[in-house]
Amino acid sequence: MEKRHIAILGSTGSIGRQALDVIRQHRDLFQVELLTANNSSELLIQQAIEFDANAVVICNEDKYKEVSDALSPYYIKVFAGMQSVCDLVTGDNIDIVLTSMVGFSGLSSTVSAVKAGKTIALANKETLVAAGEIVMDLAMKHNARILPVDSEHSAIFQCLMGSAGAAIEKIHLTASGGPFRTWAREDIAKATRAQALNHPNWSMGSKITIDSATMMNKGLEIIEARWLFGTPGEKINVVVHPESIIHSMVEYADGSVIAQMGHPDMREAIQFAFSYPFRLPLDNRKLNFAELGSMSFFAPDLEKFPAVKLAYEALEKGGNMACIMNAANEAAVAAFLKEQIGFYDITDIVQECMNGAEFVMAPDLETIFNTNETILARASEMIGRISGRKSF
Ligand code: MG
Repeated sequence: MEKRHIAILGSTGSIGRQALDVIRQHRDLFQVELLTANNSSELLIQQAIEFDANAVVICNEDKYKEVSDALSPYYIKVFAGMQSVCDLVTGDNIDIVLTSMVGFSGLSSTVSAVKAGKTIALANKETLVAAGEIVMDLAMKHNARILPVDSEHSAIFQCLMGSAGAAIEKIHLTASGGPFRTWAREDIAKATRAQALNHPNWSMGSKITIDSATMMNKGLEIIEARWLFGTPGEKINVVVHPESIIHSMVEYADGSVIAQMGHPDMREAIQFAFSYPFRLPLDNRKLNFAELGSMSFFAPDLEKFPAVKLAYEALEKGGNMACIMNAANEAAVAAFLKEQIGFYDITDIVQECMNGAEFVMAPDLETIFNTNETILARASEMIGRISGRKSF
C-alpha cells in the first residue's frame, strides 16, 4: 500500500482522536496533512506536533494567535475559520478527508472535499441526512469515493464486498438500544442528562450519545444508509442487538444474510476506511465466541423511541424533510445537554418542526442551508417556551 495523506476534520473529537490512534499504529502508511478543530486549541497543538501536520485550522478565530504562536517553531501552517477548512481540504497534498466534525456544520467542508474529488471517510452522518441526494450526486459527478466510518455502515459496506451487482433484499441495521432500552416509558420521560450520557457499549461524543439514548441516532443512520447504498427505506430494517457485536447485516435475494462482527471499537471502521481495500493489523480486542456464548435480538419499541418512526417518515416524505428533522434534533439535543428541556421534549420538538410549513420537494444546497437556519430558530423558540414552563 502506498502512503496515504490524510486530513482530519474535527481531530479533537472522539472520532478524530481515535483516528489519530489508528495513524499512530501505522506511521509508515499514513501521513497527517491537515487537522482542524472548533475550540480545543490545546489538544490541536499537541496533535499537530506529535503527527507533524502540514497545516491546522482552528475554527474559533479568537484562538488563532494562541495556536499560531505555539506552532510557529515547528513550521506548521496555522489558519482560522470555517472557510479555511473548505479551502484547505481541496489541496493536492490530501488523498483522504475524514469528516469527523459534529452535526450540520460539517456540510460545507464535506461538499468542498467532494467537489475536489477527494476520498471521503465519512463519519459526519448529519451531512448525508440533511443533503444526501445532493452530496451523492456531487460525489458521482466529481468522482469522489465516499467510504463509511459509521460502524453500521462500514459493516454494510464490508458485507457488500464481493457481491457486486447482487440485489440487496434487506439491510439489517443493528442498534444497541441505548441506556434506556429496558426502562419504562414513564421513567425515560424523567431521564436526566447524566443518565442519557451513560451509553452501555460505545464511547462517543455527547451529541451522538444523546442521539443513541433517543434512538434518533438509528433514525439518522437509516437515512444515511439510504443514500450510501441506494436502498429505499422499506428495505432497511432496525434490529436491537444489545451486545453490539454484529455491527449490521445484509440480506440477499436468496435469503443469505452476511453479518460483520467485532467488539465495539470505532477504530476498526476508521482504519478500514483509511486502508481500503487493504486490511491492516489493529491492537483491538478480538472476538472469542465461546466466551461470548450468545447474542440477543429484539424489535425496536417505537412507542418508547418515536425517533425511529420520525426518520422513516422523513425518508418517505423526501425533499428537505430529513434536513428539517436533523436541524430540530440538533437544537433539541443541545438544549437537553444544557438541561433546558426534558428527554421526550427532544422528539416532540422534532415532530412539531416536521409538521411545520418549510417543506420543499426538490431543494438545492442553498435551500438546505436556509432550512437548517429556519428550523434552528423555530426549535429555539419552542425550547424557550418549554424551559420557561418547566424546571429541571
Ligand atoms: Mg453508528
